[in-house]
Amino acid sequence: MTAEATLTDMQLQHFVNGQWLDGQRAESFPLIDPSNGKEVSRGPIASPAVVDRAVAAAREAFAEWRLTTPKERAQYLLKLADKVEEASDELALLESRNVGKPIANAQEELPLIVDLIRFYAGAVRVSEGTATAEYERGSTSLVLRQPIGVVGLITPWNYPLLEAVWKIGPALAAGNTVVLKPSEMTPVTTVMLARLAEDIFPAGVFNVVLGDGSTGAAIVNHPDIGLVSLTGDTGTGKKIATGAADSLKRVHLELGGKAPVLVFDDANLDHTADQLSLAAFANSGQDCTAACRIIVHEKVYDAFLEKFLNRVGNVVVGDPADSATQIGPVVSERQLDRVLGFLDRAKTTPARVRAGGQRLDRPGFFLPLTVITDVDQDSELVQKEVFGPVVTIQKATSDDEMLRFANGVPYGLSASVWTSSLKRTMRFMRDLNFGTVWINGHLTTVPEMPFGGFGESGYGKELSSHSIDEYSQVKHVMITSID
Ligand code: NAD
Repeated sequence: MTAEATLTDMQLQHFVNGQWLDGQRAESFPLIDPSNGKEVSRGPIASPAVVDRAVAAAREAFAEWRLTTPKERAQYLLKLADKVEEASDELALLESRNVGKPIANAQEELPLIVDLIRFYAGAVRVSEGTATAEYERGSTSLVLRQPIGVVGLITPWNYPLLEAVWKIGPALAAGNTVVLKPSEMTPVTTVMLARLAEDIFPAGVFNVVLGDGSTGAAIVNHPDIGLVSLTGDTGTGKKIATGAADSLKRVHLELGGKAPVLVFDDANLDHTADQLSLAAFANSGQDCTAACRIIVHEKVYDAFLEKFLNRVGNVVVGDPADSATQIGPVVSERQLDRVLGFLDRAKTTPARVRAGGQRLDRPGFFLPLTVITDVDQDSELVQKEVFGPVVTIQKATSDDEMLRFANGVPYGLSASVWTSSLKRTMRFMRDLNFGTVWINGHLTTVPEMPFGGFGESGYGKELSSHSIDEYSQVKHVMITSID
């Protein structure tokens, strides 16, 4: 079966209460192959009534699921991990075709996804509270960690399967039931995940509804959902926080980023240029942690720029199905137009395009790796998330100026520092206002460590046992002995 045939053959349906709903008469969204721009399938948009069915099923299932022990939930998750592992080749192929992700990258993601599910199966079993005491004479206090109930999980299009697992892993491990909505652009591997989960979880524990922002809004507005977790655009996060305020539902937001990358005069420039030529453009720059805002000390600016441009020129942009491809197309015509809009508007500014800059003359949504220098700190290329293969490079005259440039944006998701100085490491890990700071590295996340932003990058943590806390609520119980 060819990759394209697989996408075309994929039947896009909602998965509710253990059943597949075809939603044939529903409104629908197109599924486009980003490597050639062709529509390959259509999927149904869940109406509020379908969302209501999913929430009702999840609510009913919660009555039993909440009573399962961590060990029992771990066993369900381990079965899911095994199934995902067995289906890795197919999942990678589907993800590559649907997102336009190079097949080699999609294949690299699968072991991480499997490991993450297994991590949550283990983490929930070792979680324990701080020891409590007798704070009142004659009474004993204890703290219970309990699930929230039905949680709504809304994911974006850049890492559809990875994001789904970042959310369902801790949510199910903590004892919640879930209604998961993938992006309307990239629902394929989430539907496949539901197929793999179908025979594992009791009906209603794991539900998937397909659709666009209207379906997401129906989840946010549903009174029986206790928490909504979104990974998406900062604007969407603000809408969700506003919508959730009516019912005071809890909200967990992983939003945009504009990662600063600080290259000091004592950095190993070859290593830095090697690493950044990929970290800046990974996933076609459609990564909220992409190393997209490079700030270089003036003493090494020219040397770094030359090394970086040389490396960028050697990165292979092409058909995602080709195993040699390092960077594929962007996800959609709309996203491409958005990125080109930034480049167009920059023409009236002092900004200089040093590589790329124009759409590639071939079918699909391809843009070459684009490097721009001479940008002002307050220009939109520096201040706003472009979410495409576009990197700016700024020159700074001092450590203080590097910090001012780095912290001078509304986002606060991630940053990196390239230096051999311990003193600089200590200062910048403290003073950078970002949820993740890498020293001499960029992009790597690990299941054991938390991930999440500050400022307009949102709030709440993904990964690690912190995310199990995110999907839990604690209760104080005081027991008093009476004579
Ligand atoms: P998006 O906000 O347009 O969509 C994300 C999801 O929200 C989709 O499923 C969409 O259907 C849904 N949605 C849209 N409007 C909604 C509404 N009003 N109510 C409820 N749901 C709604 O984002 P996107 O374009 O899919 O993804 C790109 C964005 O995601 C970028 O800004 C990127 O930085 C961010 N992102 C953040 C992280 C992170 O961990 N911080 C990771 C990946 C992507």
